[in-house]
Amino acid sequence: MFTKLRNKFLILNMSMTSLVMIAAFAVVYFVTYSNIHGEIQNRLNAQSSKQVTLEDGDIPPEMDPEKPPAFVRHVSSEGPVSFDIEVDASGRILAVNSFIDMPDEVYAQAAALAWSQPNSHEAVTLEGRKWRYAVKPMSHQVIRGDGQQYTVLEDKYSLMFLDVTDAYRTLFQLLMTLLAVGLGMLLILLATSLFFANRAIQPIAAAWEKQKQFVADASHELKTPISIMNANYDVLMAHQEETIGSQLKWLGYLKIGTDRMTRLANDLLTLAKLEDAQLEVRKQPFDLSAAVQETVASMEKLAMDKNIRLRQHVEPGLIALGDADKAKQVVAILLDNAIKYADANGRIDLSLTKSKRRAAFSITNSGPGIAADDLPKVFDRFFRADRSRTHDAGGFGLGLSIARTITEQLGGEIHAHSVEGEYTTFTFSLGIAPRSP
Ligand code: ADP
Repeated sequence: MFTKLRNKFLILNMSMTSLVMIAAFAVVYFVTYSNIHGEIQNRLNAQSSKQVTLEDGDIPPEMDPEKPPAFVRHVSSEGPVSFDIEVDASGRILAVNSFIDMPDEVYAQAAALAWSQPNSHEAVTLEGRKWRYAVKPMSHQVIRGDGQQYTVLEDKYSLMFLDVTDAYRTLFQLLMTLLAVGLGMLLILLATSLFFANRAIQPIAAAWEKQKQFVADASHELKTPISIMNANYDVLMAHQEETIGSQLKWLGYLKIGTDRMTRLANDLLTLAKLEDAQLEVRKQPFDLSAAVQETVASMEKLAMDKNIRLRQHVEPGLIALGDADKAKQVVAILLDNAIKYADANGRIDLSLTKSKRRAAFSITNSGPGIAADDLPKVFDRFFRADRSRTHDAGGFGLGLSIARTITEQLGGEIHAHSVEGEYTTFTFSLGIAPRSP
């Protein structure tokens, strides 16, 4: 599922980037293309207004023969074209003006080509080089003594050829460079996108897996009380004639099942609520010492029932920053666990002290402790170190996970330490309010 998602993301990303890149490169290429072609066209056009020397007596008919013109003529000896061929109205070669040395047949071939397709803008290949040409009617200008100018069309045409091999090669090289750069960039982009997409998806995939595991674990936990209730209901139904009084044992088991389900539902609800409120925790100064004392007082009886010796040292008046109810919830979870997992006739030592800018609550209970391998997992949802044993104690493995979520919300810290066969210690610390002593 996540691979598909990643691939979709990659395809989208790559196609967007490719489009932008293709557009940018196309603009670069076509701007260069039109510049080069514009330049070629300009050179061909410039040459078309070439001036030619008028022979004496070649006076245009529209001029007054009484006022012979002051011929100001010059021949453009260095035109921007490579060669030009003068032809008559039937395409016969009259003269060739060329700056390069080529055999006569080539000029003849060039003239035939140009004459057959006078308006073509395509390049033609001659002698292994590329040429563009223009066919223009020849004209000459006559400038009269008073400055008046006349353009006189001749019955001849000029076939102008421009060597565009280098220009076309430059364009081709530009195209190849753009393609190579584009392809290289796409490959680099693909590799980096893949890397970052994988990295971005990892935490989502992990969270998704965690969520799936959570649902599976919750369903599994629900199965136990449901099967207890079903089994006892069947027993009750099988003895319908019996009085309620005589069925109390099965009813008691039913109650255990409903109690267990209620506790699980409450724990799940607490977790869901905590996660919902993750972003909006209001931290206020509150008397952590009083909160700890109240919680301990409310649970002392449980310790006494198990014959556990409970010793406490609570520094009074410690004002912490957080939420009193939530802090009490954490203390209650830790104390409840200590009572649950302490060995019979064992002992619990708890303390609340100030260390640097934090108030630290620490609770140690004697007992079998937690194996070193299990210690990092105790805060995971539904984790129980010894399932068979802790099941009797009635836990779902959600208490410490709730405690950790609350602690994170309050900006505090929670840690576990244990020596197998001896003791387990949990510490929970919160920041002290700035105005606290
Ligand atoms: P549970 O509801 O099972 O107590 P918790 O999340 O509170 O769930 O605890 C997870 C597991 O960590 C427990 O099942 C138990 O194995 C271990 N554990 C927690 N607190 C203690 C403790 N004080 N002493 C020994 N083991 C503990």
